[in-house]
Amino acid sequence: MAEYTHYFIQYNLTDIFYEDVNIEKYSCSICYESVYKKEIYQCKEIHWFCKTCWAESLFKKKECMICRCIVKSISELSRNRFIEQDFLNIKVNCPNSFKYIDENKNNNNKIKDLENGCKDIITIGEIEKHLKQCKFTHIKCKFIGCNKIIRLNQVEKHEKEQCEFRLEYCRYCDTDGITSRSLENHYKECPKFIVKCSENGCTVQLERSQLESHIEKQCQMVMIDCPYKIYGCEQSNRFPKSNLTQHLSSINHTLAMGSMIESQSLQIKETNIKYENLLNKINKLEQLETESKCDQLYDKFYQFESKIDKKLNNLQLDLYPKDNQQPQQKEQKEQKEQKEQQERIKFDDLFEKVSKVNSYFINGCLLKYKNRWSISNYLTESRKYRKITSPSFKIYDKKFKLVIYPQGKDDGSYTSLFLKSDSINPIKVFYKFVLLNFKDESKNLIFKNKSIMDKEKSVGCHYFIKSTEPGKKPEVWLKDDSLVIDFSIEVNINNDIKPLES
Ligand SMILES: [Zn+2]
Ligand SMILES: [Zn+2]
Ligand SMILES: [Zn+2]
Ligand SMILES: [Zn+2]
Ligand SMILES: [Zn+2]
Ligand SMILES: [Zn+2]
Ligand SMILES: [Zn+2]
Repeated sequence: MAEYTHYFIQYNLTDIFYEDVNIEKYSCSICYESVYKKEIYQCKEIHWFCKTCWAESLFKKKECMICRCIVKSISELSRNRFIEQDFLNIKVNCPNSFKYIDENKNNNNKIKDLENGCKDIITIGEIEKHLKQCKFTHIKCKFIGCNKIIRLNQVEKHEKEQCEFRLEYCRYCDTDGITSRSLENHYKECPKFIVKCSENGCTVQLERSQLESHIEKQCQMVMIDCPYKIYGCEQSNRFPKSNLTQHLSSINHTLAMGSMIESQSLQIKETNIKYENLLNKINKLEQLETESKCDQLYDKFYQFESKIDKKLNNLQLDLYPKDNQQPQQKEQKEQKEQKEQQERIKFDDLFEKVSKVNSYFINGCLLKYKNRWSISNYLTESRKYRKITSPSFKIYDKKFKLVIYPQGKDDGSYTSLFLKSDSINPIKVFYKFVLLNFKDESKNLIFKNKSIMDKEKSVGCHYFIKSTEPGKKPEVWLKDDSLVIDFSIEVNINNDIKPLES
């Protein structure tokens, strides 16, 4: 019992008298207090007071307060044990016959606990001894959270059966340490708690955690749609799963399936068309991306190419020094020729690449024209005329012609060769002039370039060949007095192409 805190009822003796008692009979007439736990002394005339009152009085006057007989000290008085004992023999109820009222509530009213209070009748003298063993004394419940004050004889029942804070264990999942008051809530969630299947009409009982899978797989009372409902089964009401077999055998579901399959095939067709359209769009986008890359590439090539052009022109100039200049050293000349050859190879390679890239971004077509221009009686003609014009030829709907200026421009030391067209719109051309060398084919004089031309702007080469060369070496540059030029022209016809309409 050491674990409990005891709570004693606060009481006055007058609260617990079993019978009517004239308390004045047992009270000191000076201090009006009862004789309980006091020593009572009397004079010869049997005038009695409590020891404290005697002491105070004798301190002032050495006499009895009533008969005034001389009393020098308390030792001259006699003890009245009769009245002391008589008081202790008065019958009282046990203080635990009252209900316990929290002293903090400041309520002085004592309430008799007729049902559960102590019913022992004892004497005043027995009170202290009785309270030490009275089974109706009050203690506080030992469980944390419970502040109940209960009678000792009820504590076992309270702690085992009634206390909301007693610790219990779940007999379904074996979890312990659950307070009694939260056990109900635990049962509402405990996965092992035995529940009844929630489907109407199903009598199966099982652990809560298995309920979901039971309803999904085993429960025969769960309400379902006919599995062929989406295929057109006309049974619109749901029915218990247990009726499925009967339903399937009572209606022919194949008919409904037929129309369903038909409409689905239609959907598949539509989806396929959408898919193809999308695929086309993707392809177009990819093509656009490639074209924009080609454009960038082309620009780079073009820049590089024009650099090479300039170099080539310079090289050609160096190769054929003007008359008034000193002939260059033979070694130097060979070096120059070698260098020129390397540049030509680079240029040829580049030219091919640019031509390929060009064909990527063209809308319309890239037309190639190849032919030969023979100028008969060249030496005579070249002295007679400032320019000699080729017959015109057509590429697509445009007319072209070649024009040679035997004396060229400036001081007349170089022959120029140009390509002219009648195009109003600018057109892009790749062109190549080859002056045939009849002694050594590998030393044909080649000029090629890429440019934009129109009616006003012809393209070609100012310094095609030194103007005195054919006269000096007719066996190299002439055949039967004819100067022969092979040429090829690639024209990018796109500006004039109109969208096709039908
Ligand atoms: Zn007194
Ligand atoms: Zn007296
Ligand atoms: Zn008692
Ligand atoms: Zn309790
Ligand atoms: Zn549980
Ligand atoms: Zn069920
Ligand atoms: Zn059906």
